[in-house]
Amino acid sequence: MEKKTNASVEVVDHPLIQHKLTMIRDQGTGAADFRQLLREISHLLAYEVCRDFETETVTIETPLEVTTGPKLEGRKLCIISILRAGNGLLDGMLDLIPAARVGHIGLYRDPDTKVPVEYYLKLPDNLNERRCIVVDPMLATGGSAIAAVHRLKQCGAERIKFVCVVAAPEGLKAFTQAHPDVQVITSAIDRELDDDSYIRPGLGDAGDRMFGTK
Ligand code: URA
Repeated sequence: MEKKTNASVEVVDHPLIQHKLTMIRDQGTGAADFRQLLREISHLLAYEVCRDFETETVTIETPLEVTTGPKLEGRKLCIISILRAGNGLLDGMLDLIPAARVGHIGLYRDPDTKVPVEYYLKLPDNLNERRCIVVDPMLATGGSAIAAVHRLKQCGAERIKFVCVVAAPEGLKAFTQAHPDVQVITSAIDRELDDDSYIRPGLGDAGDRMFGTK
């Protein structure tokens, strides 16, 4: 019987984000525009990611009087980029949450076993006290995302959200089954994965399109 999960998946269908997504999918969009669009999409995704984050009330002085207002505790947030394409979303997130701490995790898929192998890990301390936002533009098979979140949990992370631009139904299913406690925020759920594990219609290889490699 198919395993059901209570995982929460949010598709951000705001016209602004969908417009930018169409432009980023277009193969005629060059690397510089691709990076800029990814950054702008990241801003719009960050807005949704932070929607339920706690604020503290601080006292400030306007030019006219003393008042109070809510403030996000940015240092309690940690953004973790899955290398290398995750960096395209990281920059945009940092534009909006500059005080956030940053972690990086690098994984490659072993060509024989197909298992993700970790080659790099650098994380801020006290992950258990932070809200963690894991970023990777493409949730394809889900292998890297599942492994990355598993590793973060091993390192103490308890409150994690996963942010991507495009998700494949197959990867989404695998991810939410592996980590039902992690909310996924995406701007699209595409049709399917092809035989080479590319998302269709997708946008191609996000890392290559960001950096002009092949
Ligand atoms: N990674 C990408 O960059 N693109 C895909 O379509 C799948 C995985």
